[in-house]
Formats: sequence, C-alpha cells, structure tokens
Amino acid sequence: MKRSPLKRKTPLKRGTSQLKRTPLKRGESQLKRSPLNRGDSELKRSPLKKESAKHKARREEAREWRKSRTEGSSCWICGTSEKKRKHPIREHNNICVHEIAGAWGANRQKAIDKGHSTIVCCWKCNLDLEDRSVWPEARQLAVILKHAPDDYDLVAHNSLVNDNAPNRVTQCEVLDFMPSVE
Ligand SMILES: [Zn+2]
Repeated sequence: MKRSPLKRKTPLKRGTSQLKRTPLKRGESQLKRSPLNRGDSELKRSPLKKESAKHKARREEAREWRKSRTEGSSCWICGTSEKKRKHPIREHNNICVHEIAGAWGANRQKAIDKGHSTIVCCWKCNLDLEDRSVWPEARQLAVILKHAPDDYDLVAHNSLVNDNAPNRVTQCEVLDFMPSVE
C-alpha cells in the first residue's frame, strides 16, 4: 500500500516563537560592569620621589643664607630684579640662587649655601646657565669674581666638586672669561 505523504495540519510558527524569546541584553550587562580606573591606579603607582631627610635638613640649614642672597637682589647675569623687571613673563624675574656644581647631584647639596659655588640670578638666567656649551664652569666662576669678588674662591670651589682634582678649573680659564661677563 502506498503511503500518502504526511501533511502537517497546523503550520509551525517559527517566526513568532523566536520573537517570544527574551532578548539578550548584552549592551546593558556590559554597561553595568565597573569601569577600569586606569588613570587613578597609575597615579597611585608612582608617587613623586620624596625628598630625603638629609636633603631636607640641608635645605633648612641653608634657608636663611639663601634668603639673604636673593632678597632685594638683581640678577648677576642680566640685571633684572623683581622691582625693575626686564623679562615680559613675570616669574622669569624672580631671583634665586644657582649652584654652579648643580649638574652633579651630591655636589649641589654641598654648594647650596656656599658663595664660592653659587650665582644670584633670575629664573630665566637660571635655566640658561644649565647650558654648559654657553656657560662652561669657568665662565660661571667669572660671574662670581665680577659680582662677589669677596666670595670668589677657586680652590674651595674645585675642592667642593672634586677633592682629587684641584686644577679641574684653572685661574687662567676664569680670567679668560672675564670680558664675556657683564
Ligand atoms: Zn637674569
């Protein structure tokens, strides 16, 4: 006997049944995740290097001397002062104490209250003095000889920077720069 093919009476409502499924709320669930606070955590990771107790003590020790050097003073390099400003940016006219031996970390600490190793200058010249191609050590020492001859002490300065090299900067080198300092 030949079977007649099966005929489904009620058609499958595939479309409708799929629509009834609860849709995945992907977007929302992702929004609910707590965001990564990368910025914050990175700031917490590397805190600013704290000043050592030793450096702090030295700074306190030198405070009064440095204040006496800068108060009411004008820049030994360009002549500006906080009262008679030469630079258009106000802060550039602030007066500070520049350490000639500043490039060698430990020496800076020794020099911060030594007249034979420091220059009184404005913030702008303080930055300019960092360029050793324009301001070699001997030229900086010539500035001291010119503006504070009583403080000029080449032997003491050389000894501060390196006790084993008493002639690292010579008197001749300093004198050669005298015409180039104002
Ligand atoms: Zn200056």
